[in-house]
Amino acid sequence: MEKILISACLIGDNTKYDGSNNLFSRYKELLEKYELVPFCGEVEGGLTIPRKPAEIVKDRVINTKNKDVTQYYLQGAQKAYAICKYLNIKIAILKENSPMCGVKNVYDGTFTHKKISGQGILTQHLIKHGIKVYSEEEIDELLK
Ligand code: SF4
Repeated sequence: MEKILISACLIGDNTKYDGSNNLFSRYKELLEKYELVPFCGEVEGGLTIPRKPAEIVKDRVINTKNKDVTQYYLQGAQKAYAICKYLNIKIAILKENSPMCGVKNVYDGTFTHKKISGQGILTQHLIKHGIKVYSEEEIDELLK
């Protein structure tokens, strides 16, 4: 069965900054065809649960305390790709809008809930290395 890397919060893991999740129950439809490998780049990159929310500001990731947390994001992204390489994973499903996992949109860096076109740090890294990335809003593409 082909393996897919998936944002851990989408399958109900409490990895969000506030200790909750983004459960996307349609993930179960994927289990007929794929083996899912849950991964949270923020946690694997060394951030805690809970943690301050962060957004991308230019080429950095800054949290609400104005701390630059970019290094954690880069570490998480590198770890994700290492796992993809090791497990021969070619596809990822990542949580839309997140500064780590956003696929088409991210928050605009003003912490005012405004979204702009852009990709999270993990998404950018995986795409750069040839992994095909979908958001949870696009899983129909994978179920055809
Ligand atoms: S980094 Fe990705 S997997 Fe982790 S909580 Fe944020 S959106 Fe979910």
